[in-house]
Amino acid sequence: MEIFEHFKDYGHEQLVFASDPGTGLKAIIAIHDTTLGPSAGGTRMWPYETEADAIRDALRLSRAMSYKSAVADLPLGGGKGVIIGDSRTLKSEALMRSYGAFVDTLGGRYLTTTDVGTTTRDLEYIRLETRYVLGLPLTAGGSGDTSVMTGLGLYMGMKACAKEVWGSDSLMGKKIVVQGFGKVAFNMAHHLLKENAQLMVSDIYEGPLERAREMGIEVVSQENIYDLECDIFSPCALGGVLNANTIPRLKCQVVAGAANNQLETEKDGWELHRRGVLYAPDYIINAGGIINASAEYEAAYNPDRAREKTERIYDIICQVVARSKSEEVATACAADRLAEERVASVRSMKKMFRPG
Ligand code: NAD
Repeated sequence: MEIFEHFKDYGHEQLVFASDPGTGLKAIIAIHDTTLGPSAGGTRMWPYETEADAIRDALRLSRAMSYKSAVADLPLGGGKGVIIGDSRTLKSEALMRSYGAFVDTLGGRYLTTTDVGTTTRDLEYIRLETRYVLGLPLTAGGSGDTSVMTGLGLYMGMKACAKEVWGSDSLMGKKIVVQGFGKVAFNMAHHLLKENAQLMVSDIYEGPLERAREMGIEVVSQENIYDLECDIFSPCALGGVLNANTIPRLKCQVVAGAANNQLETEKDGWELHRRGVLYAPDYIINAGGIINASAEYEAAYNPDRAREKTERIYDIICQVVARSKSEEVATACAADRLAEERVASVRSMKKMFRPG
């Protein structure tokens, strides 16, 4: 891929690679933008088929983090780490510490936390080598597992969508199909079950499905997940699932899920808009985790403050929907405009007082 072309088109600042054959570490960190503050974003561990896939993921996800922090009003920019490999077989203390040492070389330009394939336990190992870590366990003085607040934010965002589409923010009786029953979906499910929503979930592994069954949740096959009749479709696994093949199959009025980069291309956001499906922009509705972790960065962690900020996702979704209507644009586009305006305004301030 043409990396410098990509940098020019999407505004990335830096892409760094690390290899440590002794531990098996092959990692990439992408820093998209540091205008608002140090870049922050989780580290994903995934068995990418090719190195280009891993680079593409780091670039896309780091950019989304810039937009996410900008709209959530955080003093952070966007970054992302990826470790190439299967987290179930390759992970070790040495590998995580090696990755921590890699993060440390960036001197605070990138702050890491958890993502798919990494846990707070891994962060404890990373923390032994660098202080540039967010989302450490509560017992280690941190803000805890990010997926708890991500689940809450997702629930609040769904309620805002329900208010817009059905005139009430109650989710009682709403049929919600969830793709991927990992950490975030599990935390979201608690809120939804309390409100008597009707959940159906799929996953590629038996462990998460067993956990869903234990909670009394219906398990559905992953093959026909896009074809199920429902009110809300909630992608909570990996990105790129909203595309030209899947969108025509959807039979829901709302798409609201945790996965990063759900839209395969920008066009897909417009296609959902054209079809009258309300799409809750992923990086807004899934911002609870970074909001929680950033509470650790700004001052001593205060859970009430983090919760209160996460609950504001409801208002941000309402703001985006209003803008989408008034400017007659897709919600994804309205969200991007909000983010870009904040970054541009802070950048102009920095130019004025910190020339060069
Ligand atoms: P996780 O690894 O705990 O869960 C993901 C689940 O999806 C796993 O159970 C996995 O088996 C399943 N899965 C993978 N491919 C699938 C497929 N094709 N069909 C069905 N299930 C599939 O990760 P998580 O922390 O719950 O994150 C879920 C998504 O939300 C990711 O895209 C992540 O980037 C995003 N996200 C997470 C956080 C957070 O705080 N953890 C914050 C923001 C965004």
